[in-house]
Amino acid sequence: MKVIAIGRNYIDHAKELNNPIPQQPVVFMKPDTALLKDNKDFYYPEFSTDIHYEAEIVLRICKEGKHVTSKFASSYFDAIGLGIDFTARDIQQKHKEKGLPWELAKSFDGSAVISSLIPKEELGDLKNLNFSLTKNQEIVQQGNTKDMIFSYEELIVYISKFITLRKGDLIYTGTPAGVGPVAIGDKLEGFIREEKMFICHIK
Ligand code: MG
Repeated sequence: MKVIAIGRNYIDHAKELNNPIPQQPVVFMKPDTALLKDNKDFYYPEFSTDIHYEAEIVLRICKEGKHVTSKFASSYFDAIGLGIDFTARDIQQKHKEKGLPWELAKSFDGSAVISSLIPKEELGDLKNLNFSLTKNQEIVQQGNTKDMIFSYEELIVYISKFITLRKGDLIYTGTPAGVGPVAIGDKLEGFIREEKMFICHIK
């Protein structure tokens, strides 16, 4: 399986990092070795001093898709979870300045926290989903999927023009404003509506 992630999919987040509002989805990938499941601890890596959390709604792809059309796009995902796209902001910034790929800032081990996944029928209106992240019990990010620049369907259509989607692939749909650093000892907890989706201790 593969992890596909979307950058700058919420206007307020694009602005907070002084990035332009994208005209097309910003797509990058993480390897399966980045996944951090089952509330496992995140170990702060030695190559960065500025790891940031980015809480994101995650889609699970349920069948193979290439050149998916918008009419059928919603049938290509069957479950939703909450994740963190951990980002080594210091490495990302250096790479951005040089016009180099972000890969190492985004794809390191443990950089893709993933909750358990909820069948989408159980979630009601998927385009009006509140989600949030707390750090040490204080809310640091609050988002609503209605504020996504590119919808779930638009993302599936766009990505599948380039990359064949396969059952079990995950799409991280971008983070709202409020990204910030973590430190050893922090506890992150993610919520969809009122439901706690994951806990992640920084070790
Ligand atoms: Mg992100």
